[in-house]
Amino acid sequence: MSAAPSTAPSGTAGHAVEIRGLHKSFGDLEVLKGIDFTVEPGQVVCVIGPSGSGKSTLLRCVNLLEQPTAGQVFVDGVELTDPDVDIDAARRRIGMVFQQFNLFPHLTVLRNVTIAQQRVLRRGKREAERIAIENLERVGLADRANSYPSQLSGGQQQRVAIARALAMDPALMLFDEPTSALDPELVGDVLTVMRKLAEDGMTMLVVTHEMGFAREVADRVVFMDGGVIVEDGPPEQVIGAPRQERTRTFLRRVL
Ligand code: ADP
Ligand code: MG
Repeated sequence: MSAAPSTAPSGTAGHAVEIRGLHKSFGDLEVLKGIDFTVEPGQVVCVIGPSGSGKSTLLRCVNLLEQPTAGQVFVDGVELTDPDVDIDAARRRIGMVFQQFNLFPHLTVLRNVTIAQQRVLRRGKREAERIAIENLERVGLADRANSYPSQLSGGQQQRVAIARALAMDPALMLFDEPTSALDPELVGDVLTVMRKLAEDGMTMLVVTHEMGFAREVADRVVFMDGGVIVEDGPPEQVIGAPRQERTRTFLRRVL
């Protein structure tokens, strides 16, 4: 199946993300063993599960930072696993925030948020700066525009990374343990920004160990173990009343 990205969506209509039969191996190691799920527009889906269960690999397959071994990935109806797709164009619609913030240390906060807008989206400097300030305001850091990353706390750096992703007008935001590298007292500010983003209607796929956040903010929680989805449902079910023993065992360890 090959289709032009914007003219002939080939996924099931209406899903923000659709994953079908996704497998991923690294050599002999099969990390994802057949993943199927969807995210609807405006939904927040939290992915939880033990270390090594394949959560990061799944997220990286959603924007094709990893090439799936088998299966299909659709974002906004565009098949990213189609060999003919313009992957750079498709990826532009997907923001990603990592555990490590990956800001450019030698650039100011403002420049960190404008550089991809100018180079990738071809926005002019003034427009890029206006949009950067708007998004720095969203994360509460407009007053730090002229600081360098090293002058900010980890939580502030992560909020800049979120502003940088938002400035690209993503249709979908992927978060891979965005608060795991932070000192405990800095976690709350980042989660507050993410909660606000969810309230604004952003579609979000979030790998997290923050069960409180998952409980309060997620529309759905997906529990992964050993490269499969063991349980997928509303947080009241998956966290509050898990049906599978593997989910209960995991939650006993983290709660
Ligand atoms: P999680 O995010 O749930 O901790 P990961 O997706 O990072 O899990 O990793 C799942 C498994 O895949 C681990 O055993 C990890 O060592 C392995 N893995 C991840 N990336 C690679 C890679 N690039 N090459 C080889 N093995 C990898
Ligand atoms: Mg991971």
